[in-house]
Amino acid sequence: MRIDLHTHSDASDGTDTPAELVANAVAAGLDVVAITDHDTTAGWDEATAALDRAPAGFRLVRGMEMSCEGRGEDGDPVPVHLLAYLFDPADATFAAERIRQREERIGRLRSMAVKIAADYPIDPDAVLARVGTSAGRPHLAAALVAAGVVDSVGQAFEDLLSRKSKYYVPKLDAPLDDAVAMIAAAGGVSVIAHARARMRGRLLALDHIEELAELGLGGLEIFHPDHNDDDRALLAHLAASLDLIGTGSSDYHGDNKALRLGECSTDPEAFEALAARATGVSVLVAGATRSDGER
Ligand code: AMP
Ligand code: ZN
Ligand code: FE
Ligand code: FE
Repeated sequence: MRIDLHTHSDASDGTDTPAELVANAVAAGLDVVAITDHDTTAGWDEATAALDRAPAGFRLVRGMEMSCEGRGEDGDPVPVHLLAYLFDPADATFAAERIRQREERIGRLRSMAVKIAADYPIDPDAVLARVGTSAGRPHLAAALVAAGVVDSVGQAFEDLLSRKSKYYVPKLDAPLDDAVAMIAAAGGVSVIAHARARMRGRLLALDHIEELAELGLGGLEIFHPDHNDDDRALLAHLAASLDLIGTGSSDYHGDNKALRLGECSTDPEAFEALAARATGVSVLVAGATRSDGER
């Protein structure tokens, strides 16, 4: 069983449509894929419909990656990505928070685009026109590559789009403790994404993870392309000691990132534990009638 529990479509900052994401997951030899766009469930329905063209037994996990703010190792606030799986999309509190976050995202991307457009040949309106549902810096990175300002998305992030750039504009993310509670209240399972990816910036305090375990956190993403062997060992140890589920995933973004679907993956037992814990929506199975597919 090959299981990838963290991927993006063009509902946020990936480049595959949700249907292409499912087709590419099948082609990559995966048995289970989770769609986890940033702060939106907009890709869920199209991904679900694409199961009609997937081999019988292929499974889709409906999820999301939520933008949060935790406590850094130095005690100051730090951005944290929290994966949310199999929650009820109709839960009103959580749905309202997603809308708020997407409004933050679009306002912030517009501000950054306008600042950059003062110095470089990009059109802010054209950048925003390419956003599906959830805007992110990769949309701006793609425009900078297309305009020849930078050679790659990665180079855009190193310089113009980095947190240290004069063009960077922050957005207001959800307090991490609240987010864990919100996901649990919606019947979902929360998993902290790439918690030790220090190339992304400062790290979440390990004792904050311990506190979150008390508040209903479901798991930790252990196997991720941005984690080295030491990071994985530390997180595996932490997950075991706190009785958290340990997952693995590629964080695939289509052409916006140089990595493959299934590059890192989740153990079947961990996946089963995650699915068993959720009460919001079910894992969907290709070839099953919808009521059979629900579990
Ligand atoms: P934002 O959500 O607007 O803050 O932008 C963060 C997104 O950009 C995340 O989804 C990352 O996957 C992506 N990202 C961050 N750094 C890089 C990079 N060096 N290359 C490609 N994508 C990146
Ligand atoms: Zn992303
Ligand atoms: Fe992330
Ligand atoms: Fe991601």
